[in-house]
Amino acid sequence: MTGVVWYRNDLRVDDHEALTRACNEQNTVRAVFIQQESGNRGEQQVRFEQETLRFLREHLGQLGVELTILQGETVEQLTLFVQPEDVVYFHRMTGEYEARQENEVKKHFTTQMYETQTLHLREDIGSDELKRVFTAFRKRVEYDGRFAEPIEAPGEVRYIEPPQTRAGYDPRTAFPFMGGESAGLDRLAAYLERPVFTYKETRNGFDVDDSSKLSAWLANGSLSPRRVMAELQRTEREHGANESTYWLYFELLWRDFFHLTMRETGHRLFRSNGLKDGRLTWKTDQAAIDRWIAGETGEPFVDAFMREIKETGWMSNRGRQITASYLIHDLKQDWRIGARYFEQHLIDYDVASNYGNWAYIAGVGNATRTPRFNPEFQQQKYDPNRAFIRRWMSSETTEK
Ligand SMILES: Cc1cc2nc3c(=O)[nH]c(=O)nc-3n(C[C@H](O)[C@H](O)[C@H](O)COP(=O)(O)OP(=O)(O)OC[C@H]3O[C@@H](n4cnc5c(N)ncnc54)[C@H](O)[C@@H]3O)c2cc1C
Repeated sequence: MTGVVWYRNDLRVDDHEALTRACNEQNTVRAVFIQQESGNRGEQQVRFEQETLRFLREHLGQLGVELTILQGETVEQLTLFVQPEDVVYFHRMTGEYEARQENEVKKHFTTQMYETQTLHLREDIGSDELKRVFTAFRKRVEYDGRFAEPIEAPGEVRYIEPPQTRAGYDPRTAFPFMGGESAGLDRLAAYLERPVFTYKETRNGFDVDDSSKLSAWLANGSLSPRRVMAELQRTEREHGANESTYWLYFELLWRDFFHLTMRETGHRLFRSNGLKDGRLTWKTDQAAIDRWIAGETGEPFVDAFMREIKETGWMSNRGRQITASYLIHDLKQDWRIGARYFEQHLIDYDVASNYGNWAYIAGVGNATRTPRFNPEFQQQKYDPNRAFIRRWMSSETTEK
């Protein structure tokens, strides 16, 4: 019998329960990834995925597992690939579309499904904590204080070194993101070496080490959150814990919170009124939306961030809050249009974190108040010398 590992947003060999189980239980293992058509996805998002798949293919090859990349409808493609006696191994993913795919696959094949996308599992928390607010959730999981240890890769893997010099990057990028498990593990090690110890003070900044930049690898699963936590705890044991090392865990809890909320509430975070009852009607003024996307609203701080995402597929957390708030509360546009734009462009696009944060800022998520960010006030606080604005608003041409 053959085990087929159906890869999704879990593009790694480390801490991959589906792969490890398949290798332990089956004589032959093959892997498959069904790629979304590029369509209107941003160039940087597609590049990051291609790099990730290249590294995954190499690492799986070392374990004697061949990776096949297909395009098209999931069940249709799997039917062509999977033999009737095969077992399909995969990880559960957050999202309504993803859950529908899982149900279809379970209907058509013999399957084994595992959970590694979050640190905590919904079953351990209970839905009441998720219907409330983040603090209730955090207190509950911190009280329990447990999560699973990562699982080692099912064999010796020599992680391929990512190239040191990287071509094709906008020189203004906050970080030269490169897809793939090796680059993610390298970044984790480098960040835990030193910058993590000042994370709490720097995390609202816009430069390389101001925040961890781990989101891109976490989003497509080339890095597992349990590996990040295990390494963070090791760093704390060896070099001491402080408020900043705790804060990285705190932020990872937001990621878990949004994932578990979306799993609990199904399609509701895609509705105009999100998790709130009743109906809400939002405006759509295409000209205003186009100016927001192009970074031509006339509000320099907002425009600088919007140019950054367009060119690099990246924007800091502070930038995301400011630009989302501007679209929703100043331009008064439908928050889901902004969420969709981010979905197509962010290299760290993650369905739960994206729709969860957008709904939160729109006041239709599970928050008790509606946050609003005044761009001028934010600029004075976080970019007082206008260095970030100058970086993105000067007429300097992009070197590609
Ligand atoms: C409107 C909006 C849209 C967003 N869309 C996404 C998205 O598609 N994908 C995504 O990963 N994050 C999203 N975020 C959350 C956050 O902006 C990014 O996770 C963070 O900027 C990534 O940078 P970092 O890895 O350096 O984060 P760090 O500050 O180093 O945080 C460490 C990790 O914690 C998690 N995290 C931190 N803040 C949040 C948060 N607010 N919500 C959920 N997880 C968090 C991420 O996994 C991150 O990698 C969004 C935030 C907003 C306001």
